[in-house]
Amino acid sequence: GVALFNAKKRGRNQIHWYHTGYEDQAIRRLNKEQILRNAIQDQDLAIHGQPRIDCRTGQIEALECLVRIPLEDGQLMFPGNFIELAEQNGLIRELDAYMLEQALNQISDWLSQGIEPLPLAINLSLQSFNTTLLDSLNQWQVRHPEVFQYLELELTEHRLPDHDEAFLEHLKSIRDFGIRLALDDFGTGYANLSRLPDWPFQILKLDRSFILDLPESDKQQAVVKSIIDLCSTLGIQVVAEGVETEAELTIVDQLGCHCIQGYVYARPKPLEDTGDWLSARRISAQ
Ligand code: C2E
Ligand code: MG
Ligand code: MG
Ligand code: MG
Repeated sequence: GVALFNAKKRGRNQIHWYHTGYEDQAIRRLNKEQILRNAIQDQDLAIHGQPRIDCRTGQIEALECLVRIPLEDGQLMFPGNFIELAEQNGLIRELDAYMLEQALNQISDWLSQGIEPLPLAINLSLQSFNTTLLDSLNQWQVRHPEVFQYLELELTEHRLPDHDEAFLEHLKSIRDFGIRLALDDFGTGYANLSRLPDWPFQILKLDRSFILDLPESDKQQAVVKSIIDLCSTLGIQVVAEGVETEAELTIVDQLGCHCIQGYVYARPKPLEDTGDWLSARRISAQ
């Protein structure tokens, strides 16, 4: 059999035929792209929330919103499986815009019900930091400026452009709305500490790769300690991501990072099931 698809990278409007071997891959990619496209078009996306906790008080500080695609068989497709594709074909902009609207609607609903909102964090791909984002923030600004103090936007460190003044200004104008900015997955890129003072991030999320060998490695502890100390000097809050065990929790806490997100407290669960977190606002490690 043969698979037909439009190989964009090889030139516009060229049709390429690939035979067995490439075929499976191409069909799988096409299928995935179709699933993704339909899910976004039908707004059939599931949003799971995972809390960020102050480990000294058990206080829930925020809920990170994580997208999933519900499949016909009842299973969920996870972002590790489709974000990259969505970034390649541009669908990520619609996906991220949808997540942002959902989060802001949720915050606004809570406010109108007289409920103090849990701050919600949304992940945005680099492409989503565009003028459309600014436009929709401006619209919210006119109608409900009070939502912004409960919104956080996360941007992955390894995607940060180098020395891009325009982008920096863009980030600053987002911060000027009163939205908090988080540098996500810190340590997966260059972990360039010297640039940290230039960026308008209030939150830095240490990637799980830092946390993994922490209990065993003195060197890694020294590295993490210096990041935590620098951030404290700069007034940036550090979050340890992907904390799974009591041992990891203990060491991160000892190093001076009290803000934790990870399975040790809670796995992500559907946003509509997070009512207990909203009402309790407190949680203890398992
Ligand atoms: P992230 O923003 O770093 O989110 C944290 C990821 O770590 C989530 O994976 C979460 O389920 C997982 N995690 C949390 N605690 C633990 C733990 O203790 N151990 C381990 N091993 N993992 C833990 P998830 O939901 O699969 O998302 C993966 C990535 O996909 C996210 O990483 C984020 O970069 C991206 N993503 C998710 N939703 C969106 C979205 O709406 N838009 C965009 N652009 N990216 C998204
Ligand atoms: Mg994130
Ligand atoms: Mg992360
Ligand atoms: Mg990650």
